[in-house]
Amino acid sequence: NKFGSFSLSNEIQKALRVLDYEIPTEVQERVIPLALEKKDLIVKAKTGSGKTAAYAIPICEMIDWLENKPQALVLTPTRELAVQVKEDVTNIGRFKRIKAAAIYGGHPFAIEKTELKQKTHVAVGTPGRVMDHIRKGTLPLSRISCLVIDEADRMLDMGFIDQVEEIIKELPKDRVTMLFSATMPQKIKDLSLNEQRTPARIDI
Ligand code: AMP
Repeated sequence: NKFGSFSLSNEIQKALRVLDYEIPTEVQERVIPLALEKKDLIVKAKTGSGKTAAYAIPICEMIDWLENKPQALVLTPTRELAVQVKEDVTNIGRFKRIKAAAIYGGHPFAIEKTELKQKTHVAVGTPGRVMDHIRKGTLPLSRISCLVIDEADRMLDMGFIDQVEEIIKELPKDRVTMLFSATMPQKIKDLSLNEQRTPARIDI
């Protein structure tokens, strides 16, 4: 089984070849077709499974380059993961010239503000800093049609879940929501029940 079996544009397939991604991992095999159909998903998968590309590939596929406001928002528990996801999105979206911005605490707000003012297709960030940008009006949300909550259980452990809920309240209702977590504590199941529309459950 190859990436060619999904209906992906030539630009994305070419990027996957450059990255040497030949065969989809199990999580990619199961997530990509459903995500391309804009289904909400709750996915139990660990780091190392290829989960980032599982959501980054469909996100890059659906991005409209001409739209200047962010179309996808990825929430991560740490700045390291935010930077990694930004890089993965940039690599997968390279032949569509997709722009991703990483926003996280502990680095100057003004730099992020300037970056967000330019074309940003995908915003990736930690909940506290994302909320800061929302409050200050520097992260427009009106065109967000895809939300990813990555490493949701770590977000819970780090005390970010209330902020995640707050951010979700600001997003357009008409969107896809993909939730990834290595474990499924009740609080994460509740988040899914409250914020997703009949999600498909995928267990890796
Ligand atoms: P992740 O679980 O998203 O952190 O990915 C783990 C590692 O696997 C990363 O270094 C990816 O670049 C790599 N990777 C993801 N998908 C594939 C694939 N289909 N083929 C080869 N490597 C991959």
